Amino acid sequence: MHIEQELKLDFSDVLLRPKRSTLNSRKEVELEREFKFYHNDRSWRGIPLLTANMAACGTFEMARVLSEKRIITTFHKYYEVDDYKKFFKTFKNPDFVAYTLGIRDEDLDKIKAMDKADLLKNFTFICIDIPNGYLQRFSDFVRKIRKLCPDHVIIAGNVVSKEMTEELILAGADIVKVGIGSGSVCTTRRMTGVGMPQLSAVIECADAAHGMSSDNGACGLIISDGGAVVPGDVAKAFCGGADFLMSGQMFSGYEESGGETVEIDGKKFKEYYGSSSNKALQVNYGKKDAHRASEGRHVLMPHKGSIHDAMQDLFGALRSTGTYIGARKLKEFSRRATFVRVNNQLNNSLSAYDTERRS
Ligand code: 5GP
Repeated sequence: MHIEQELKLDFSDVLLRPKRSTLNSRKEVELEREFKFYHNDRSWRGIPLLTANMAACGTFEMARVLSEKRIITTFHKYYEVDDYKKFFKTFKNPDFVAYTLGIRDEDLDKIKAMDKADLLKNFTFICIDIPNGYLQRFSDFVRKIRKLCPDHVIIAGNVVSKEMTEELILAGADIVKVGIGSGSVCTTRRMTGVGMPQLSAVIECADAAHGMSSDNGACGLIISDGGAVVPGDVAKAFCGGADFLMSGQMFSGYEESGGETVEIDGKKFKEYYGSSSNKALQVNYGKKDAHRASEGRHVLMPHKGSIHDAMQDLFGALRSTGTYIGARKLKEFSRRATFVRVNNQLNNSLSAYDTERRS
């Protein structure tokens, strides 16, 4: 048994120290980034935000709206080849969508069928996603997909530490997805006792990925996945070194999100559920595996309306962070950031009376 004594931090454990700045207005803060990738000569430019690959937010409907805003939709695993055939008849924005698969035989068969049907050309990103990226079988699978898809940008995860970040990049990932137990509908920490505070995981994995450089001059990249509750958390993830941020909670509850709309006492709610919740296991696999306990929640969140105008708040908030810390570009956030550790970060004394219901 070993205890690591160094304190590990979550987004709620820190605030950003303001810095002298020459910016005149929020408008001057550039939110788009351009990336080169470790394993090929592709490049991508856009706002480095992704929906989670969950049934409640990684939907075709979200992609139609978010691609216009230059944000990536990571599709859930449950669309079939025929669904994609229909979708790509009208959707032509491969910069902004990611295909997701797990590591089961069926996942491998499906990606081969997608390839055969010439559908993979519609994606820039391929996301290989399992809750526990520490399995040797996972790195082997990443190697296999890298061979099958040499020209795609491969995302692999989830992990929370430097040695596995490096291993996944060496195995073929361009981007490593970071986060275990941090998600809003995740109960892994409660059920298994396993996890890592998200900000510290991001700082450690970003340091490892950015320290690796390939022949084409690109470095490894990371996604902070899960645990961003308020726009300030997104800013903190970027300041901690995340290249991209993935969220389920922030992209759920909208008309275009997946999940049922439910009406209770005249108020509208939208379903959001973890990919390992009983609900997801029942909907997607019809039954629960006898060896498996649910590690996800099923929640009804207040319906948020359409996603169309919803990103303005987040973009405005990120621009404002840039002006406070003196960063003209999102790319500069981590260089300009000084975190201060805090005991209390928000004053919620009147949040119950907030007419816009923010906590
Ligand atoms: P959120 O943005 O809602 O805080 O977190 C979304 C992330 O939670 C997802 O991208 C995924 O990594 C993780 N996640 C989604 N469903 C589950 C689940 O059922 N169990 C666990 N442990 N994590 C989940």
